[in-house]
Amino acid sequence: MKILVPVKRVVDYNLKIRVKSDGTGVDLANLKMSMNPFDEIAVEEAVRLKEKGVATEVLVVSCGVTQCQETLRTAMAIGADRAILVQTDEELQPLAVAKILKALVDKEQPGLVILGKQAIDDDCNQTGQMLAALADLPQATFASKVEVANGKANVTREVDGGLETLSVTLPAVITTDLRLNEPRYVTLPNIMKAKKKQMDIVTPEDLGVDVEPRIKTLKVTEPPKRSAGVKVPDVATLVRKLKTEAKVI
Ligand code: AMP
Repeated sequence: MKILVPVKRVVDYNLKIRVKSDGTGVDLANLKMSMNPFDEIAVEEAVRLKEKGVATEVLVVSCGVTQCQETLRTAMAIGADRAILVQTDEELQPLAVAKILKALVDKEQPGLVILGKQAIDDDCNQTGQMLAALADLPQATFASKVEVANGKANVTREVDGGLETLSVTLPAVITTDLRLNEPRYVTLPNIMKAKKKQMDIVTPEDLGVDVEPRIKTLKVTEPPKRSAGVKVPDVATLVRKLKTEAKVI
């Protein structure tokens, strides 16, 4: 069974980002970019399934600018076998990515597609669900445990009331939650090995996909600054302030 893992290149999660002065978006100039953390978890899960003998190949895909090749090399250093870069300088919204992935699902026929539950730059949480709809595949989102056997995946999800376990028939789409696994550290020998692995480069046009944006961003603003707090001398004052000023009790 082949597993397809889409990986997005996003601004590194450790960085504090700034909004551009004209309010048109986030200033990404000279910022460190990394693999979306949920996608790292997806790659790790796919590689573990291969190591268990459940999968035979892990194929990683990234859609975006030429620098996404670095993200794909990192995924191959974790253990993915092969990569496809769908190269474009256009802004890609979740629907466009889902259409590209649908075209690749048709071509590559994976038994499982494992995506991150959301990209930390746009926080959309849409691509996996849209792909499942476009490809007419069952979906299990926010997976915190995945077990694959007998043509089915049992997926445990953390829901408000506790844990829910779903069974989906393969091929299926799964999206990863934070507690699914802890991705391994990438070692130098594996980084070297990853340089020799196959990476194909195609364009959305090659796949017959129109990626034109459907949503227009009107304005991006910084969150309001928090005003300074006050120190209270004792508990009685705190309770009084909570009652009379904050009016929360
Ligand atoms: P989103 O719907 O944007 O929050 O993204 C959810 C997931 O879709 C991500 O965690 C990735 O697995 C995948 N994805 C989104 N955008 C891309 C992209 N440009 N290239 C590859 N995978 C992507």
